[in-house]
Amino acid sequence: MTLAPNVYDAEPIPEAARAEIERLLSSGDLFRYTNEGSPVQQLEAEFAELMGSRYALAVSSCSAALFLSLKALDLPRGARVLIPAFTFAAVPSAVVHADCVPVLCEVGANYRIDLEDFAARIDDNIACVLISHMRGHTSDMDAIMAACDARGIPVIEDAAHSLGTLWHGRKIGTIGKIGCFSFQSYKLVNAGEGGILVTDDPELAARATIMSGAYEHNWKKHGGLQNSFARWQNRLPLYNMRLQNLSAAVIRPQLPLVAERVEKGRANHDHVAELLNASLWLSVPPALPPEERAPDSIQFNLVGFETDAEARAFQEAAKARGVSVQVFGLSQDNARAFWNWQFLGTAPDLPQTRAMLMRACDVRLPVRLTPAELAFIAAALTGAAEDVKGQARAYGT
Ligand SMILES: *Cc1c(COP(=O)(O)O)cnc(C)c1O
Repeated sequence: MTLAPNVYDAEPIPEAARAEIERLLSSGDLFRYTNEGSPVQQLEAEFAELMGSRYALAVSSCSAALFLSLKALDLPRGARVLIPAFTFAAVPSAVVHADCVPVLCEVGANYRIDLEDFAARIDDNIACVLISHMRGHTSDMDAIMAACDARGIPVIEDAAHSLGTLWHGRKIGTIGKIGCFSFQSYKLVNAGEGGILVTDDPELAARATIMSGAYEHNWKKHGGLQNSFARWQNRLPLYNMRLQNLSAAVIRPQLPLVAERVEKGRANHDHVAELLNASLWLSVPPALPPEERAPDSIQFNLVGFETDAEARAFQEAAKARGVSVQVFGLSQDNARAFWNWQFLGTAPDLPQTRAMLMRACDVRLPVRLTPAELAFIAAALTGAAEDVKGQARAYGT
């Protein structure tokens, strides 16, 4: 019998990281700007190549990358930034940190931006659109880019959970002006903490680089942007959100593994999705047609669960069968439920997103899981739904 799989443990860091970390520890060479060709500098070159982007800037987190992206765009204080209402609290926080005002947009039952609501909210008072591809679910980038391009509104992509996701074969994170990624432990590449932004725009790259903490002439170690850097010398604040060499040493050997992780993660996800969709009570929304996903977790909706009590009973039944399920809107203080973002003031009225969050379930599916473990998880979830709804049906209640 397969025991309940542990979905929270991380995978070991590739062996190749060890020698490099040992070298860095022996020399004490941890700061990215001490030596030319530092591990952080090499990581940036490799990540830019992986994404097919001109510039990459490694920073301390994806949140830092989002903040620096907004600052690099030079948005005026109080600028309104449109974001999806389904995302992690770090996203509206980055907007607030950049002295901007988040405007929340409705998200549908498929976890993607509701285009009707998006069209209603995007007007000339929106200075920037920050698309958070939450849990790697890609919103309709064709429609979003068309609407933003028509108004000259810059788009930032929060691709924290989308490394390896494709849209019409294009890499997510390279469609907007700037794309931001995370190396926090629950993402595809794990360094504990860390982030990176990519862009093809030399001015944005130069501005973000200086503000990340390339003080004095450290920008010379970035190369390729001398004119842009000279233009911004001493004219921008230094927020010091740099990455250090040890983190780069942990990240670099994982980059060659991304393609394999994406393929395995997608196969695992699609297999479990098929098993869940066989249940009357569970529904995994399909990806949009242009999208090839790179998931390391699965989201599904409870169907026909009329009350929160029923949804909670499902969570308890799944737990009893060995699988922890997060229903985004049901756990107290959940950082992905917009009504908990009290730092924004009074929560806006977003009934559609709220309804989704009250029935949308989240289960981690790390790529290392075996077929038996995937089957265990799927059986626990469909069984739990049957525990709650099958009985209700049998007794006609
Ligand atoms: C994890 C995550 C973030 C934050 O990333 P950090 O590196 O922890 O700052 C932002 N947005 C989304 C969608 C995420 O999943």
